Amino acid sequence: MAPSTHFKLNTGAQIPSIGLGTWRSEPGQVRKAVSFALQNGYSHIDAALIYGNEHEVGQGIKDSNVPRENIFITSKLWNTHQSNVAEGLQKTLDALGTDYLDLYLIHWPVRLVPNESSALLPVNPDRTRSVDRSWDQSETWRQMEEVYKAGKVKAIGVANWSIPYLEELKKKWTVVPAVNQVELHPFLPQHALKDWCDEHGILLEAYSPLGSEGAPLMADPAIQEIAKKNGISPATVLISYHVNRGVVVLPKSINENRIVGNRQIVPLSREDMDVLNGLAAQGKAKRINTPLFGWDLGFDDWYIQ
Ligand code: NDP
Repeated sequence: MAPSTHFKLNTGAQIPSIGLGTWRSEPGQVRKAVSFALQNGYSHIDAALIYGNEHEVGQGIKDSNVPRENIFITSKLWNTHQSNVAEGLQKTLDALGTDYLDLYLIHWPVRLVPNESSALLPVNPDRTRSVDRSWDQSETWRQMEEVYKAGKVKAIGVANWSIPYLEELKKKWTVVPAVNQVELHPFLPQHALKDWCDEHGILLEAYSPLGSEGAPLMADPAIQEIAKKNGISPATVLISYHVNRGVVVLPKSINENRIVGNRQIVPLSREDMDVLNGLAAQGKAKRINTPLFGWDLGFDDWYIQ
């Protein structure tokens, strides 16, 4: 069976199963990449205020001439705006040049307190991150529910939330998060988190599917073997893995050939999926994006390097 082009959110809305990532896309490059992607079959863009390029992402969306209602736009509340979600959201809407988002995520379950050192990545005098450990994440979620109920965003969710954090949030939520966006790939399959999210109707989204900067996971012999066997590229194996698993995937590229190639999603056999799902347990477990905030965010595998 052909892999799904869309999944259903718990709001009832459809979300395209592949979206273009925009982290570390230089402003000058991302405008062209977004416009090109939208003109070449993508209809889903993953943005964030902290990426510092939302204005250019918005320009790329406009350049594409694709009607707004045909595009699924996600962005993320940055940590320094946790105590004022409406303000953080407005900055993003202004930068992107749109009056609503299809999905808005809490970027990390961490509040940073802005100070004179930096507006977005503030540090204390001893250079540690200016983290507010007393902050209650359920208050941030309450404010997310408010902007959702006001219709400014069509769905709300979280990113980088482990099971213990989700369990805590569950005690207070009145709207169940639609999505949890986390690092996911065959070397970090997060089976327990996937089961928990499935059980609660929360869709997972896979970030860094190729291993982030430079796509290092493509060089793994097991991935290359599956690619060779199926006559596809290692990138197609790594991207298709998620959609075959019922997970949204967000590959980033600013290169036109790669943007087109990354859209190819193929069915993978049960046997190939079993191999991919088992790699981490066979000693290949690897997390690429480690936390910047100096405290345990509840992922069992968080310190795997
Ligand atoms: P990816 O795993 O998508 O890898 C991107 C890297 O792979 C870039 O260097 C890119 O270079 C290269 N690349 C892309 N396609 C190919 C290909 N077919 N062959 C060879 N190289 C390729 O990394 P990201 O970490 O960017 O993750 C994807 C997206 O997920 C982000 O852009 C962001 O939107 C989101 N994200 C969210 C996070 C969160 O905290 N919520 C954290 C991290 C990411 P080039 O551009 O030159 O093609």
